[in-house]
Order: sequence, then C-alpha cells, then structure tokens
Amino acid sequence: MNDAGLKQLITAVCDTVLDHADELTALDQAIGDGDHGINMKRGFQAVQAEADTLALKPVDEALKAIGSKLVMTVGGASGPLYGTLFLALGKNWTAAPDRADIAAAMRTAIDAVAARGKSQAGQKTLLDVLEPALAAFDSGAALSAVADAADKAAMDTVPMLAIRGRASFLGARSIGHMDPGARSSALIIRAIAQTLEQVV
Ligand code: ADP
Ligand code: MG
Repeated sequence: MNDAGLKQLITAVCDTVLDHADELTALDQAIGDGDHGINMKRGFQAVQAEADTLALKPVDEALKAIGSKLVMTVGGASGPLYGTLFLALGKNWTAAPDRADIAAAMRTAIDAVAARGKSQAGQKTLLDVLEPALAAFDSGAALSAVADAADKAAMDTVPMLAIRGRASFLGARSIGHMDPGARSSALIIRAIAQTLEQVV
C-alpha cells in the first residue's frame, strides 16, 4: 500500500468514529457511563491530526504509532484495549503480508486484547465483533462480507448478558442493548474494508 492509500485508510477510520460519536455515546448511556463516543472521538481526532505524518511511515510503524496515540488519548476501558489492538497488530505485521499473514497478525492482536481485558468472546464486548470478523476474514470472505459479519456480530450483542466492563454491573439489565465497543469495532472494520476495496 502506498502513502496515499494509508492516508485514505486512516482518514476513513477516523471519520467514521467521529461521525458516529453521538451514537456510541448513546449506546454507552444505556449500559455504561455514557462516554464511549467521547472517548473514541478524542482518540481518533488525535490520530486524524497526525494522519499526514502517520501515512509516511511503514504500515507496521504507523499501526504502532496509532496504538500508542490511542492508549494516551482514548481513556476509559476501551483506550488500552484499542491501543493494544493496534500496537500488537503493528508488532506482528510482516513486510508485504498476504491474507494469511494479516489473519495471523490479527489473531495475535485479538489475543493481546483478550489478555489485557481478561476477557473473551461471549461476554458482550468488542471481542464479540473482532472474533467473528477475523473468522470471516480467515475463511476467505470478501471484505464487504467481513464488514457485514462485523455488523451482524454487533447486532448479536443485543441479547447478550454483559460479563466484562461497566455493563456487567447492570447484570440482566445489560440485556437488550448493543455493546458500545462492539458497535465501534464494527464501524472501524467497515471503514477499513470499504477503503481497502478501493485502494488495493
Ligand atoms: P468505560 O467502560 O471505561 O467507560 P468506554 O465506554 O470507552 O470505557 O468503553 C466501553 C467498551 O469497552 C465496552 O462497550 C466494551 O466493548 C469494552 N470493554 C470494557 N471492558 C472490557 C474488557 N474487560 N474486555 C473487552 N472489552 C471491554
Ligand atoms: Mg463508558
């Protein structure tokens, strides 16, 4: 991928988070403390501000820089988790990766998020989107189908009982609402998928 493609990718991800910040906050108002959109907006605005410099870096270095920036700026539970995701992805990114290499890097990165959150899929968190999206990617699905799988997975968090994060404090009252982090993950995955279909 060239610098322009990377810039487009970074911009698309930041734009979708900023455009949906209010929606993410509303979801977090229902089962959390109502700051997920605010947290994510702060972090991705900081990334957006450095998009030009980030895009000049090799992909692995850009991913690591984005991860550090998110750790420093997002805050909440999601900051260290998204930060870990991008940092670990950068650390495990290989030169000129094929689909299997990217899937392997994603596997390691998602495992790092799970370790950081002491969590796993099935607990109504962003892992409930990241895992099925990776499974779809791993199966060779088209990128648009990966994005569709992520959206469906976010919808599938609605009937789930929260076992990790603030929503877990609500017990059974967490049922019936989409997990905010699951929604933000699905948004980011769709932005990446849509942009990659154009630039690669
Ligand atoms: P906070 O919960 O500290 O207010 P945010 O509102 O920004 O942070 O993020 C909440 C989201 O973070 C949740 O919707 C969930 O997807 C994710 N999350 C919280 N705790 C965990 C965890 N232990 N493991 C995985 N994801 C988590
Ligand atoms: Mg919150």
